[in-house]
Amino acid sequence: MSDYKINTKCVQGGYTPGNGEPRQIPIIQSTTFKYATSEDMGKLFDLEASGYFYTRLQNPTNDMVAAKICDMEGGTAAMLTSSGQAANFYAIFNIANCGDHVVASSTIYGGTYNLFHVTMRKMGIEFTFVSPDCTEEELDAAFQPNTKAVFGETIANPALTVLDIEKFAKAAHAHGVPLVVDNTFATPVNCRPFEWGCDIVTHSTTKYMDGHGAGVGGCIVDSGMFDWLAHKEKFPGLCTPDHSYHGITYAEKFGQAGAFITKCTAQLMRDFGSIQSPQNAFLLNLGLESLHVRMPRHCENALAVARYLKDHPKISFVTYPGLEGDKYYKLAQKYMPSGTCGVVSFGFQGGRTAAETFMKHLKLAAIETHVADARTCTLHPASATHRQMNDEELAAAGITPDLVRFSCGIEDAADLIADIEQALAQI
Ligand SMILES: *Cc1c(COP(=O)(O)O)cnc(C)c1O
Repeated sequence: MSDYKINTKCVQGGYTPGNGEPRQIPIIQSTTFKYATSEDMGKLFDLEASGYFYTRLQNPTNDMVAAKICDMEGGTAAMLTSSGQAANFYAIFNIANCGDHVVASSTIYGGTYNLFHVTMRKMGIEFTFVSPDCTEEELDAAFQPNTKAVFGETIANPALTVLDIEKFAKAAHAHGVPLVVDNTFATPVNCRPFEWGCDIVTHSTTKYMDGHGAGVGGCIVDSGMFDWLAHKEKFPGLCTPDHSYHGITYAEKFGQAGAFITKCTAQLMRDFGSIQSPQNAFLLNLGLESLHVRMPRHCENALAVARYLKDHPKISFVTYPGLEGDKYYKLAQKYMPSGTCGVVSFGFQGGRTAAETFMKHLKLAAIETHVADARTCTLHPASATHRQMNDEELAAAGITPDLVRFSCGIEDAADLIADIEQALAQI
């Protein structure tokens, strides 16, 4: 598939049926797989042969969908996970252990921040958070001898900052570690981080990739470009024998192209089991088939909404990286020339009360914690996800009491603007 354009990969990547085989990806709804001899099965357990034996580790439906996402991102290997949270946890935990350290952008998704700052810290992994806008010197100063990875989001949820991928990749590589980028909001339709030096990509497929609010899921893709063996001492998990697999060394046996995902499957999926159900993988694939058609419409609608709000007298600010004059417009043009995402955030001259009134009167846009759905959805964080925080705590989290996050769906932009207009008129 790899010579085709992204639009073709969305539709046909990952699965090419043979003569008389199903046109659509089959759902292999089976926990286990049958073998003729114990020796045959033994070879699978020793990673001597590739094949399926238990769906907690791998399932053919999942692998076909992972292969499509791999193709779309331009990677060499990929795996699906049960959620975006699992994808980010696995991607980092596959290379950072107790006593290690990771540099991460400070504007990442709240769930990922909590995973890193609270839960993984309990596991003995330390994180240093840096502003995505930091200078090269500030970024450089965040590294420690035990740093094992750098992490950021192409477009951060919900801060809508844009990561300077080349700057972060350069710093990571100067310190002999990979850059991991969560590409959920941009999707490979709008940005392929591997083309800018990123080494590993993660996704919450729950968002645009599924696109229909149908299934929670995640994905990890390896570029195959990071040379683990050149930094042997930093990555003993990949570069020294694994005694739970008869002493194989992943980076030697599976090479740069396959080591990361093979280890992640063989160790982390085996031990934690955050596998995506084959049913959900099938639904995800239906979403992927139209991703390249939906993304431009999400972006077009978001830009129309952002432009409408920008000059509205009741609006105090609009944040959208695709909007001319936005703080991240230039970076967005560099990394995502054909569009960013469908999420716009804005605030009100009338503060928190105005935001509450606005939310109350929306008719088409639904109040949900979700984003990146075909149907427009919106959230007032100060009265929902962040309601335990006072105004000072909100400010520290980069959220003002009047901020509304508005995730434009793929409806007609005129209807979305009319809905916003009538709700604004109630303030
Ligand atoms: C939603 C989201 C996640 C978490 O994904 P889940 O599928 O909800 O577990 C991670 N990163 C980003 C950028 C997200 O938007």
